[in-house]
Amino acid sequence: MRNRSNWKRLVTALLLGFGASVNADELPLVDAHIHYSQDAWQVLSPEKAVELLRAAGLKKALVSSSSDEGTQKLYRIAPDLVVPVLRPYRKRGEHSSWIHDESVKSMLSAKLANGVYAGIGEFHADGEQIELPVMQHVIALAKQYNIFLHAHVDVDAVHRIFEADPDALVLWAHAGFESPEVISATLQKYSNLWADLSFREEFAFRGEIEDEWREMFERFPTRFLLGSDTYTPERWFYVGEYADWSRGWLPQLPREVADNIAFRNAETLLSRVRN
Ligand SMILES: [Zn+2]
Repeated sequence: MRNRSNWKRLVTALLLGFGASVNADELPLVDAHIHYSQDAWQVLSPEKAVELLRAAGLKKALVSSSSDEGTQKLYRIAPDLVVPVLRPYRKRGEHSSWIHDESVKSMLSAKLANGVYAGIGEFHADGEQIELPVMQHVIALAKQYNIFLHAHVDVDAVHRIFEADPDALVLWAHAGFESPEVISATLQKYSNLWADLSFREEFAFRGEIEDEWREMFERFPTRFLLGSDTYTPERWFYVGEYADWSRGWLPQLPREVADNIAFRNAETLLSRVRN
């Protein structure tokens, strides 16, 4: 039902031309978790997708797609907005098979040699899978190109990535779906670890930030990024709603912390990549 109503709202948003335009005083945001995968291409043209990102008041969107062609479609028309991240998936449904597919290695190597990417991901892996040759190749490529890994992984995998490359730059998707206690301990251990907040809306479910999350944001003010995660086409409707929701809770934090999470932490991560 939820999906159906989202679809309806997406169609309405398309018909209405995406509703209100951005208020000039609105807090600028960077969305670190956008996908424009193949099934979204039918629903949203690249122009409409970019229009949705701009209508949400985003300064930048970190985009990865299955296949990468989706990201390139958006980057071609909005290079000022779209930051390409290279996904190791050529189509939907490769979340668990990719890591056993040796052909991914040459695909990634060729794309990185010929394109501009800030990172590799978002990819899915857990625990011991980090030791597999395809994953180790991904870590080595990120090191070679000095780009980040957008990793949808458990905490064991985070440890293993930093064991393989202690200087890796890692953006931990969904903060690993871990508790504030585990997230904090992991951020404490690795200074090159950032966490995106996509699918963690529970921390401000009623619009007010939960105490243990607020304490964590204030303890690690430079490490969290926003992300809406458009992993299915109907999630594109949610980009603007997520931005509005974020602008609702961010002002409950000290101004500097709010600005950091809104956009500055993403800019810092990107500046580390491009050095
Ligand atoms: Zn995702």
